[in-house]
Formats: sequence, structure tokens, C-alpha cells
Amino acid sequence: MSITVAIEALPTNTFEFYCYEVEQSFSDYTSYEAAKIAATAHQQECDTCSHGVCVSAQVDVDESVNLSNRNAQIVFQAMGLSLGEEDWTGNLPAETVLGAALLALANDKILDNPVSPISEATHAGGVFFVEGFTDEDVRLRLQWIADLATEAMNLGRSITWG
Ligand SMILES: [Zn+2]
Repeated sequence: MSITVAIEALPTNTFEFYCYEVEQSFSDYTSYEAAKIAATAHQQECDTCSHGVCVSAQVDVDESVNLSNRNAQIVFQAMGLSLGEEDWTGNLPAETVLGAALLALANDKILDNPVSPISEATHAGGVFFVEGFTDEDVRLRLQWIADLATEAMNLGRSITWG
């Protein structure tokens, strides 16, 4: 479960598929059908892709920051922004996101209750270990989002998430 914070991207009317074997996209097919035919031919030669390959529409900007749901909640809260009531998707001007990220980064202390690197938690009668999350962890992610928003501003795009 994760949230992807991305620069608003526009469709290019071209299609691609991705090979996990060579970790590379095969792109610029001018129709979905053309990409599907190429992907099917590729599957017959590639062990990694033989189980399935995903054909998708290409967009003109593909820069993003991926956060776990929990981290996204913490980071958005630190920025004073709402992820959205239920579906956790949204769109804001890059200037707004950059301003919120820089303001959050300017705080000496971000988290009210930082979680130590490894700590025990009790849930439903069992004890389990939770991964820690400290101010430094939040700062790192805020910096990624600030960099992304700066790039989006340069492109004249907004920031989307979902
Ligand atoms: Zn492949």
C-alpha cells in the first residue's frame, strides 16, 4: 500500500511496455494494439516477461516520490496538507506544495512522537516490531517532495498524488 506523489503528467498518445529482465521500457508505439503485439512477441523470448507484461499509455513526465501509506500520512501532516478524505488522491499547485514542504523543513522538531528505529508495539493481543520513523526520516521525504515540487514549478505543472 503506497502513495505516489508525482509531477502532473500529460498523455503523449503513445504506448509502452516494461521488461523487468533488462529493466527497460520499450516505448513510442503509436497505438495500444501495436504495443500489445510487440509485447506479446517479446514475451515469447523473455523468461521474466513470459508470465505477463503490462502495456500502458506513455506520459511526458515521469518523476515521482513513492511513500508508504503510513509515511504519506506523516509527511502530509507535517506539511499541514490533507491527503484527501477517503481516496487519498489529490492535486495542488506546485508552489503550494513547495511552500508547505519548506515550511515543514524549517521546523526544529517535526514529529510529536517519533518512533525509535525498532520498537515494540502491541496490537490485537500480540507484540510485534514496528519500523522506526524519526524526524530525519520525515526530513528526507520532505526534501524529496520539495525537489519534486521545484521541478514541477520549472515545468509549469502541478503536483498530484494517489
Ligand atoms: Zn522481458
